Amino acid sequence: MAGQGPPPDMTEASRSFAGAERADPADPGIDRLREIDGDGTAWWALDISDARALIAAVDDGTRSVEWASALLAAVRIADADQNALHALGPLGARWRMVGQPVTACWPSEGWGDLAELVAAAAAGRPASRRISTSLFDDATITVSGNPARPDMLIVSLGGRVADHRSFWLVRASEQRYRSLIHHLPWALLQVDATAMAPIFEALRCRGVTDIGAFLAAEPEVALRSRDIVRVTDANLKALQVLGVESADRVIGSVDFVFSASPETAKRVIKAHFDGARSYTEVMKLRTFDGRLRDVALTVTYPTPPERLDVSMLSLDDITDRLRTDVQYRQLQADYSRAARISMLGELATSIAHEVNQPLAAIVTNAETSLRWLARDEPNLAKAMQLTGRIAESARHASDIVKRVRAMAAPRAAEREALELNIVVFEALAFVRHELETRAIDLSMRLGSSLPRVLGDRVQLQQVIVNLILNAVQAVGTKGRIELCTAPDPHDGVAFTVHDSGPGIAPEYLDRIFQSFFTTKDEGVGIGLAICQSIITAHGGTIGAANHPDGGARFRFVLPVAERAP
Ligand code: ADP
Repeated sequence: MAGQGPPPDMTEASRSFAGAERADPADPGIDRLREIDGDGTAWWALDISDARALIAAVDDGTRSVEWASALLAAVRIADADQNALHALGPLGARWRMVGQPVTACWPSEGWGDLAELVAAAAAGRPASRRISTSLFDDATITVSGNPARPDMLIVSLGGRVADHRSFWLVRASEQRYRSLIHHLPWALLQVDATAMAPIFEALRCRGVTDIGAFLAAEPEVALRSRDIVRVTDANLKALQVLGVESADRVIGSVDFVFSASPETAKRVIKAHFDGARSYTEVMKLRTFDGRLRDVALTVTYPTPPERLDVSMLSLDDITDRLRTDVQYRQLQADYSRAARISMLGELATSIAHEVNQPLAAIVTNAETSLRWLARDEPNLAKAMQLTGRIAESARHASDIVKRVRAMAAPRAAEREALELNIVVFEALAFVRHELETRAIDLSMRLGSSLPRVLGDRVQLQQVIVNLILNAVQAVGTKGRIELCTAPDPHDGVAFTVHDSGPGIAPEYLDRIFQSFFTTKDEGVGIGLAICQSIITAHGGTIGAANHPDGGARFRFVLPVAERAP
């Protein structure tokens, strides 16, 4: 080592390693390097005994990013002088640097260079070059063998630092961010997508613009991309989500992220190719311990785009949240169906009457038709006319049964563009008999050319029937009910029921939409709560008030179909 002079550019250094603190003479580890630690250069002694096989591999053409990182992970730092501690080490502590693999203390963008120099020096070839990394700017690095210790290499690093604070600050802030990211409550994987650059380049040269179509036609490109893009780091939460103990299991090909969702990989590649800053979707993730989870995957592509080695991939495990959502929706649906069935129970007489009417008409028309046919000269024209009416009545009865069945059936909510006036007429079929038997005076003012609303037909019928039924119960016999549909000034369509009943006691006005609030002896108190949850789920609003002229007025507003959520 004595024959090796200081690196050539030391004299023009804006701040060289020479400014660093002197070695601590009491520290026994530095003794071996003391003699060469005087010229501002930082020195390392590296133990390459565990890296022999990988060093040998360099000559058979297997050099790659993987090779470099594996090699440097096997090479251990045997000793370091104070300058090296300043330049590369964790703050001030030799014991935290000595014994570590080189990968722990050397910036990853310089791994390829250092690995090649180590391999060359180990093979007895001259090994020196100038490199720049995030930690040092235009430094000269020289690696040389030590004849007395064949398993030991000496690394010298000399050069210039553009910003006099950079060694300390870059290192310290990198440590801070590493520690912060490591303990963040979100699962994060750092991904190196450098290997995609030549693939994208080649595709662009071939004139590919729609990479989605390209990947659909040539799926092996996506498979290969999954293989060559690498996870380079993972935080604690990511290990937990992935069901692994140590980061070693996940460092390597990113393929495992997409094993249960291969189509997601194609969309992630497409977003990258198209220049997106980030991409998110919910996908299935197969964990290392065999569980299948629902995760929200977010890929943040590097900025600037050429830093392909620092894409971030976050995995938010939303399985439990989705399950709770599904259970909640199921509960809502069950509750709403229970309310519909209870409503149908209340309407049993009305419904029976509604079905009976066409059935009675069928019987009468069939009997009359038989009489026309039984004549000496059968009147076929009359029989045909009556048969037509029979068919019409049968269709009418069947429609009523269908509507009742739709009300009673368990079903998932659907959304379609609906004309509210038609839904009102459909709802009226359930309560017509109720209104007639109580001689209630029903008036309707239905708006013409109303925009359509986006909604579930049966649920909206349920709301309207419920509100009318409450009005019927409030007005008793010979009361008045007015139904109205109209455009709402705030971009929606409004439905109003105004009755001539006693109205709502002011102290109950803010309680009537609560579940199980009722003032009726036979009441259950879920009708209005269900109405509210249905209308809210449609992105609308519902309210109740007492009309100045007397009686209660219930009004809901639904957003119009084009602007509905
Ligand atoms: P229920 O009809 O089983 O009582 P609802 O949730 O439909 O349950 O109604 C809750 C309460 O709201 C009723 O008990 C009643 O006090 C009040 N209410 C509902 N509609 C009217 C109305 N049109 N006029 C007066 N009060 C009403």
